[in-house]
Amino acid sequence: MNLVSFNDPQIAGKLLDGIRRAASGTGTIKIMEVCGTHTMEIGRLGLRSLLPENVELVSGPGCPVCVTPGGVIDTAAELALGSGVVVSTFGDMVRVPGTRTSLEKTRTNGGAIQIVTSPLQAVANAESNPQKEFVFIAVGFETTVPVVARAVTMTCEKNLENMSFIICHRLVPPALDTLIADRDIGISAFLLPGHVSAIIGTGPYAFLDKEGVPAAITGFESLDIVGGIHAVVTMLAGRHSGVVNRYPRVVKDSGNSHAMKLIDTVFRPVDAVFRGIGTIPQSGLALREKFARVDACRKYGIKIREHAMPQGCACGAVLKGKIIPDKCPLFATSCTPDTPVGPCMVSSEGSCAAYYRYER
Ligand code: SF4
Repeated sequence: MNLVSFNDPQIAGKLLDGIRRAASGTGTIKIMEVCGTHTMEIGRLGLRSLLPENVELVSGPGCPVCVTPGGVIDTAAELALGSGVVVSTFGDMVRVPGTRTSLEKTRTNGGAIQIVTSPLQAVANAESNPQKEFVFIAVGFETTVPVVARAVTMTCEKNLENMSFIICHRLVPPALDTLIADRDIGISAFLLPGHVSAIIGTGPYAFLDKEGVPAAITGFESLDIVGGIHAVVTMLAGRHSGVVNRYPRVVKDSGNSHAMKLIDTVFRPVDAVFRGIGTIPQSGLALREKFARVDACRKYGIKIREHAMPQGCACGAVLKGKIIPDKCPLFATSCTPDTPVGPCMVSSEGSCAAYYRYER
């Protein structure tokens, strides 16, 4: 068996040389790495310092818990404290500040918060504890939607009356469309998230070609990322646009048709709020009417509102790629991973957490 190294320093060096050559004939290039995992890996590799001065990497809105409205966290906290409901969620959500509290503080104050690694685990808990009510907070981009869709269908198949969901999923392509329309940001190109693309394929990014923006679907090893940057800088230098798939070992152009069919069976697209950014048309998902009985918002009469970001927090500008985290006045002063003011400092995929750890 041939083992392929995705971290070969000699190949990385050649790709970096190619980036320098291609960028020498261009003006400033601003590349947004959309995915929070890319931001972390870029920081860990120290990649920014290896790029030519006119090639800038900015983080985007691809940290799922960062873009989840603070009102969702407040609502989950209220449910967990006062109503005898067990709130299940991914571990990444618990330390994220809402507008009044976090789920971690809620748990310390006696709230019923349960961390699960999969929504299917939450369904299993509901099935084995029929005397208790369970609500799963479903956050994440297209990557996590299929498993939540399956948890929803499973809940209905098993006729579990004590299980419901708050759906806060967000979709990547509509967010990118909104960001490129904002000329103040001035995005030249995108590194597209590999895991999201494994589900949706290349088709939903077709609008980028019409907008004249190059983009590369990119994996998470060092050569994947450097190769993605090389691809978009070369395209910019040659005045080309469109989407290249630099992660074909995982991403098929057609995506995962089984997962997409499941998503479409359970959900419909709706306008949705990205925390700190605002409402983006058709960027969220809602349960189809057929599955309304597992909608926690209907069941408990919940209306989730978005509130202002914490005073002084620049997470909105960070998530849009308008500034890099250390330009926020609270960065590494009053906002640190131990004392997070905004969501971007606490999530394992948050841009501010990545900069705090690797780029100070
Ligand atoms: S440093 Fe803290 S307050 Fe500032 S943008 Fe980042 S998370 Fe928000």
